Amino acid sequence: MSIFKRAIFIPQRTYRIGMAAFLLFILGLAVIWGERPVAQVASYAVANRVIVIDPGHGGFDPGAQRGEFKEKEITLAISRKLEQNLSKAGAMVILLRDSDESLSDSELKGSLSERKRQDLGRRVEKANEAKADLYISIHANADPSPRWRGAQTFYNKNSTEAKLLAESIQQELTAGLGNTNRKALAGNYYIIDKTKMPAVIVEVGFLSNPEEARLLSQPDYQQRVATAIFTGITKYQANLLVDKQD
Ligand SMILES: [Zn+2]
Repeated sequence: MSIFKRAIFIPQRTYRIGMAAFLLFILGLAVIWGERPVAQVASYAVANRVIVIDPGHGGFDPGAQRGEFKEKEITLAISRKLEQNLSKAGAMVILLRDSDESLSDSELKGSLSERKRQDLGRRVEKANEAKADLYISIHANADPSPRWRGAQTFYNKNSTEAKLLAESIQQELTAGLGNTNRKALAGNYYIIDKTKMPAVIVEVGFLSNPEEARLLSQPDYQQRVATAIFTGITKYQANLLVDKQD
């Protein structure tokens, strides 16, 4: 037996224990790494940002409704999950409503459209007064035909930042939900017109599509939608920080 062979001789039992320990170590690394959500990498970017979350509709205004599924309930559930994600990452979140209520005066005796105007006006006012950095409005779509489906993000065509934010969110919705090829679109909406910060409306899917309506009412799917929006926001913010450093 040569010196070399003797030098690398390891008793079989020691060898097996060593290999087992090594494999356990690798497995441990894989578990730790696997459990780390990708978004965590960029989540520092939202720390201390003031972010308004606007759960669409509420109270007297149910929004779209198909059978048991109400837009105002789905928007609130997803908004609460998004609020948790953002708060954990250190953002200062303003959730515009946290119960089944509108922001209009309950004693306002005007028509429904007057109450709706007051409600939307106050949402915009709160965001502008807080000088928020971002405004995320959550809605669900509905169409007379049941065939359309898919989440889609809208932005004010005059805001480059809002466009980038909407595209970032849309990319994560596409990747995270795996059921839409929709693109972020410019849209004419009061909320994204009147708010002074980059603002987007996320239509999380179609209540008029029975399968999507069912999905949107499930907490697991709501969390996937919220996580996709959260990741889209953090990546947008991280890119802003990188641009500033250049
Ligand atoms: Zn709506």
